[in-house]
Amino acid sequence: MLDIDLRLLLPSSQSVYVLVFYFVYLAVAGEILPGKVIRGVVLSDGSQLRYRCNGLLALTLLVAILGISAKLGVLSLLVVADRGLELLSATFIFCVLVTLVLYITGRYSSDKSSSLKPHVSGNLVHDWWFGIQLNPQFMSIDLKFFFVRAGMMGWLLINLSILAKCFQDGSLSRSMILYQIFCALYILDYFVHEEYMTSTWDIIAERLGFMLVFGDLLWIPFTFSIQACNCPGWWLLYNKVELSVPAIVDNCFVFLIGYMVFRGANKQKHIFKKNPKTLIWGKPPVVVGGKLLASGYWGIARHCNYLGDLMLALSFSLPCGISSPVPYFYPIYLLILLIWRERRDEERCAEKYKEVWTEYLRLVPYRILPYVY
Ligand code: NDP
Repeated sequence: MLDIDLRLLLPSSQSVYVLVFYFVYLAVAGEILPGKVIRGVVLSDGSQLRYRCNGLLALTLLVAILGISAKLGVLSLLVVADRGLELLSATFIFCVLVTLVLYITGRYSSDKSSSLKPHVSGNLVHDWWFGIQLNPQFMSIDLKFFFVRAGMMGWLLINLSILAKCFQDGSLSRSMILYQIFCALYILDYFVHEEYMTSTWDIIAERLGFMLVFGDLLWIPFTFSIQACNCPGWWLLYNKVELSVPAIVDNCFVFLIGYMVFRGANKQKHIFKKNPKTLIWGKPPVVVGGKLLASGYWGIARHCNYLGDLMLALSFSLPCGISSPVPYFYPIYLLILLIWRERRDEERCAEKYKEVWTEYLRLVPYRILPYVY
């Protein structure tokens, strides 16, 4: 399983072209395609960034271009599945280079705005890892929004390429179909609700350093697809799983409940922030200190959205059966990440909301899973 030919990690010129084409396409599409323009949160200096949420259109157009090009024989849909490791290492090199540039430009920036003000601890590794500026831009493109979009789309493109390989090999299984459907729905849903991303922790609180760039560009697309891919220990292409009908039904159930909680919780918070009087589950919202929502999902646990996301992650892995822990990499990683993130978020909220937060803790005692955690 871990018998990797390290030469496969050396990026060929073709994998570099694929990456360059991908980033150039996303930059151009993001700028010229129409989309709802959303104002971001108000930053500490009173400024607000604007985000053009045209990811769904950009993705649809890209898939159409790739499909037509493959039909015309201009490119092979298998390029990603066949060159997974090369693309991974090329992306890694790109992440290192781009974050070094971000470090240098951030370090020597004299901009005083909240978005571009340098936060320098003096520790090179720390500053490179966590980033120096909140919202660095390149040719007016907000890089944080750009990279997360690239990562989420990349995940779908990897999956589609693996699907094409399954068709070619005649190895399409029920497990692969289930995995593909769940992930495609999750990713499409992400782009349908792309504007919700503008109020998430990554966008509003995290600076842009290696941690975020690597997480967006490499971690999301390459490790979230472990269940399906053709790489060391990557799974469904090379492992046969016979799923029974009850197992499929149970799996769909986990996906649907997870989706309902994940999307419902994120949506409730988003609409509450826009208009604190909006009804929640048909009733006027319970509001703490005029600022925090304490009803709906946000009255059940303080991060029900994380619970929903964890159920979704589990549903992406269940199609692989339980014979190996490898396909469960994503839910296990997400569990660790979200527990850590929830703690950091609570610290930030306690500092920001003070006694209002204490009152919220009293009203809603559970962090993620009611009665358990
Ligand atoms: P949240 O969307 O939960 O945002 C947290 C912020 O929401 C807080 O800092 C606070 O910000 C505000 N807030 C918290 N409680 C309340 C409340 N009761 N009422 C009103 N506002 C509140 O966190 P994330 O940005 O971390 O996550 C967003 C989604 O992204 C989640 O569903 C998560 O699962 C998913 N995610 C997925 C990852 C993956 O790898 N798959 C990684 C990370 C996140 P403010 O100061 O603005 O009030």
